[in-house]
Amino acid sequence: MKMTVIGCGYLGATHAACMAELGHEVLGVDVDAAKIDSLAAGTVPFFEPNLDDVLKRNIAAGRLRFTTDLAEAASFARVHFLGVGTPQQPTSGAADLTALRTAVRELIGHLRGRHLIVGKSTVPVGTCAELADEIAALSRSATIELAWNPEFLREGFAVDDTLRPDRIVVGTDPRHPDSDAADRIAQVYRAILEDGTPYLTMDWATAELVKVSANAFLATKISFINAISEICEVAGGDVTALADAIGHDARIGRRFLNAGLGFGGGCLPKDIRAFAARAQELGVGDALAFLREVDEVNMRRRAALVGLVEKACDGSVLGRNVAVLGAAFKPESDDVRDSPALAVAAQLSLRGARVSVFDPKAMGNAARVFPTLRYAESARDAARGADAVIVATEWAEFVHMSPAELSTVVSRRLIVDARRCLDGDAWRAAGWEYRALGSSAVA
Ligand code: NAD
Repeated sequence: MKMTVIGCGYLGATHAACMAELGHEVLGVDVDAAKIDSLAAGTVPFFEPNLDDVLKRNIAAGRLRFTTDLAEAASFARVHFLGVGTPQQPTSGAADLTALRTAVRELIGHLRGRHLIVGKSTVPVGTCAELADEIAALSRSATIELAWNPEFLREGFAVDDTLRPDRIVVGTDPRHPDSDAADRIAQVYRAILEDGTPYLTMDWATAELVKVSANAFLATKISFINAISEICEVAGGDVTALADAIGHDARIGRRFLNAGLGFGGGCLPKDIRAFAARAQELGVGDALAFLREVDEVNMRRRAALVGLVEKACDGSVLGRNVAVLGAAFKPESDDVRDSPALAVAAQLSLRGARVSVFDPKAMGNAARVFPTLRYAESARDAARGADAVIVATEWAEFVHMSPAELSTVVSRRLIVDARRCLDGDAWRAAGWEYRALGSSAVA
């Protein structure tokens, strides 16, 4: 099949390359000419494991091209996926749908005949109904259907998640139950569905809600264990042992129960805020009031880490050398959007610390957001002369660092494990003071 993917960021570039991998002919579209040039040249403009290979292979096979021209996209295919950004509005928690609306308006201006637009971006419930009305009002010479197929991929596993998803969710127009949109989308994913992947069809509103509910649940699970870790910090409990113990209950499960510095990135924080804002608009703000608490627990972890480091530095970090290992919001990604690691680095710098940051993949993105921090060439370089070393993103290379080797460059052997990912005993045995976020100071 022929299809376009409009918006080629983390989601869209991955989707375009993976749809080509399934054998489709794909045209990726973005307003960012530099991004399109890079993708067309076979270079992924961000870090995502395995995506480079899939991109290069499919460009070489002639199944994948990129353009900035929506008119070309309109004549290339009859199925158009939307993967543009839906960030948080600058002045509220609500989602900013400007890019989405612009992309749809511009696309339909070029469409002739019968087309299917399939949204993948994360949107507030009610967006499809609104967009469909707008499409109907604007599209004179085309018959356009709209479906929503929310995306659940995780950065760091994006290729695998796209080619082997847990499920595929498709929402269609409830006013047209006889529409064949869901069948046409099933054709797109045929190779995936043949492997037994559940294909769940529903109305627009439910599909929109599935995505934000999934993210709200995941965020709640993380904040739940972080709230418990606040108790452990004062009561002396071991939150990791606790998570292991409650996680054995299949109704609870161990995943997403890692206490530490909390969640960040371009999805969970803005999605729970947008969900709460939408509930408020719908007059049922109380239903999701707990999401504000989830957000607050999460943001408190950043303050708690700054407090822990200050305390360990005798009350102030002024003039202290602090190494922050990690800038990406999570390992295996170069994404620094709402990154807890970078937020903490910036806070410590504001409090007078001389902060040195190292991340295996996110240095360029981090330097664009916080150009005044010092960026080191390696973990060892960041730690040189440090009064405290913080592991803020659990990259494997930090988890497996040698305490003995790092001892030779630091000024004081103080390691702060903000992700509870290190072997505390090994660090202590090597003569380090080991502090973990979520443990009492003596633990
Ligand atoms: P991103 O910022 O990496 O990519 C968005 C892209 O859209 C950018 O390249 C931008 O230039 C492009 N764009 C903006 N306006 C455009 C227009 N009018 N026409 C064409 N392109 C346009 O964002 P992302 O992380 O890929 O997220 C995109 C959407 O997918 C969001 O709604 C997000 O919530 C959702 N999502 C993201 C992930 C993820 O892990 N990143 C996972 C699931 C869902």
